[in-house]
Amino acid sequence: MENIDIAIIGAGPAGLTAALYASRARAKTVVFEQGIPGGQIVTTDWIENYPGFPKGLSGQELGDLMLAQAEEYGAEVRPFTPVEKIEGAGLDFIVTADGEQYLAKTVILATGAVPRKLNVPGETEFTGRGVSWCATCDGALFKDKIVAVVGGGDAAIEEALFLTKFVEKVYVIHRRDELRATKCIQERCFDNPKIEMKWSRVVSEIKGEDNKVVGVGLAATNDDEDEYVLVDGVFIFVGIDPANELVKNMVDFDEIGYLKIDHDGRTSWPGLFAAGDITDSELKQVITAAAKGASAAFEALKMVDEKVCSI
Ligand code: NAP
Repeated sequence: MENIDIAIIGAGPAGLTAALYASRARAKTVVFEQGIPGGQIVTTDWIENYPGFPKGLSGQELGDLMLAQAEEYGAEVRPFTPVEKIEGAGLDFIVTADGEQYLAKTVILATGAVPRKLNVPGETEFTGRGVSWCATCDGALFKDKIVAVVGGGDAAIEEALFLTKFVEKVYVIHRRDELRATKCIQERCFDNPKIEMKWSRVVSEIKGEDNKVVGVGLAATNDDEDEYVLVDGVFIFVGIDPANELVKNMVDFDEIGYLKIDHDGRTSWPGLFAAGDITDSELKQVITAAAKGASAAFEALKMVDEKVCSI
């Protein structure tokens, strides 16, 4: 079995920052990532609020830079290597990833969050046939088309704005009559002639013909009539949920499923640390995920040293 000082699960900003700190301290650091490195930012078109980049940069670029910086100091990042199980405690963990077992002194969980579904008819059936959770990945397929974006948070409005580069028109479908997104993003949305707001509406059904989306049924959440809108695509951004499956029933969670951690990133499972969106029900920013990754690595390193010294 391969020995690891610090096993990190998830290669988003929290995991990659933890990897940077751990590898710079000369700990044997392996990052297991079930998909491609970068986390949610790689599906984000543009990031303007990460310090050090006054003009902003693409999410893909920031993810690539974080990966390169962690690898520069010796962290091993293993893409497409999903962790299936974590066992043990204290300073002796067994991590099973892609069928292989690894001995790890400590574990940092940075699995992030997963996009919510609407759970309406047509959503699953037309996924990949007009229904998408990633404007950066799929937006260009909708050149001169009409699309709907569902949601009223930062993600929905930022991605609606991104989609206007390609499409003829974007309907933003929001269940209330005011947006949750931050004001500066709202202003750009209201100034964009390609965006039409559908206030106080929820999607009741996604309709398709010949294997592709043709429209959405909208139910009014106020006294208006329900309606049907012709669209070629539906982009869903109705929030994210913590990716906590791996440690369900093993650690303490808050009432909505986020891992409870102390100031230094310790979970209730001795030796298991957590960082990033899986721990954060409020301020899910790249900078806060990175900061928590650094704190968790700092504390995990103290544990590794204790182990090394005590042998
Ligand atoms: P969010 O802030 O939780 O917003 C989710 C939106 O979806 C809300 O407008 C919500 O409506 C709506 N919604 C939730 N469930 C729904 C349902 N079943 N049907 C219809 N609408 C539904 O999620 P997010 O936009 O994905 O953002 C997640 C986190 O990442 C946030 O903390 C956000 O600030 C952060 N983020 C930041 C940036 C940035 O800083 N540039 C960019 C993207 C994301 P209500 O408003 O009525 O609740």
